[in-house]
Amino acid sequence: MLVVMEAAARPEQIEAVVRHIERMGFRAHPIPGAFRTAIGVTGHGGKADPTIIENFPGVKEVIPVSHAYKLVSREAKPDDTIVTVGGVDVGGNGIVVIGGPCAVESLDQTRIVAERIKEAGGQLMRGGAYKPRTSPYSFQGLGEEALEILARVREEFDLPVVTEAIDHESLQLVEKYADCIQIGARNMQNFSLLKSAGRARKPVLLKRGMAATLEELLLSAEYIMAEGNYEVMLCERGVRTFADHTRNTLDLSIVPAIKRTSHLPILVDPSHGTGKRNKVLPMSRAAIACGADGLIIEVHHKPEEALSDGPQALLPEAFAQLIREVDAIAQVLGRSLQPALAAS
Ligand code: PEP
Ligand code: MN
Repeated sequence: MLVVMEAAARPEQIEAVVRHIERMGFRAHPIPGAFRTAIGVTGHGGKADPTIIENFPGVKEVIPVSHAYKLVSREAKPDDTIVTVGGVDVGGNGIVVIGGPCAVESLDQTRIVAERIKEAGGQLMRGGAYKPRTSPYSFQGLGEEALEILARVREEFDLPVVTEAIDHESLQLVEKYADCIQIGARNMQNFSLLKSAGRARKPVLLKRGMAATLEELLLSAEYIMAEGNYEVMLCERGVRTFADHTRNTLDLSIVPAIKRTSHLPILVDPSHGTGKRNKVLPMSRAAIACGADGLIIEVHHKPEEALSDGPQALLPEAFAQLIREVDAIAQVLGRSLQPALAAS
């Protein structure tokens, strides 16, 4: 259920509705929008009585929400959400490009790549500290040492950091060191991890599971928001199909579908989406052309020596080219690259 307040509703009127909803044993989620505030009502079992809420001063209407997901939906919030990651806005009219290695391998490697990301105009840095690998014998990431490296590099280059948490323990550490918590494809339906991310005080980048539908992705985002963390970004990273010319099949049609159903920003990861360096640039162009709010791109200065995902990593020069092309495409759509943070 969604309570839509009048545009002129006063804060104390909103507060009175919130208190009533909570007295009835539900959770109230005030969602301020450009034109009005809505209050999402969530909870298990039973329904709050709409006829009582309708009569509260300042209430315009109470609408039942037909989908299983509520807080993520355009019904709850018609205007686009902008999530701020370490001072960089994601969503709205700007386009962001997150660049960096699959995994943090050393301070030197991370510094070299970060410098090139910044020079090229990338606004955010990625790099895995905890790597969910298919084989237990593959490089698993440097853990907290990698988080320390990322935090150091962020200070040096003014590049806010996005990095993955794979379990509760790593989530606490990622929340402490990084600017954004990534939940990877393999954990998209790890509901207890999603709830913990929902209680964290950092934005969350939620990647689509490799066999997840749009509704399942949105319900996973709903888990995070239902716990009170509204700073959620979605990411398409390819799904499993019979096609074997790429690592995954990048499902770009989910971008306009998400834009219709949800107010959350949606990014695209053509690196994992294709698994092949030579397909990252064309699919990046296409992602921006179909309305994505940004890209997450793996970059390595020596991909042949990378400890993970070398075949899909771009060289820094190719990353710079990608940013130039993406910027040109964004202009056609009346959008532009989000400015990077100024060096401090
Ligand atoms: C990653 O971005 O490092 C990653 C492991 O991606 P995904 O969860 O999409 O496989
Ligand atoms: Mn990777």
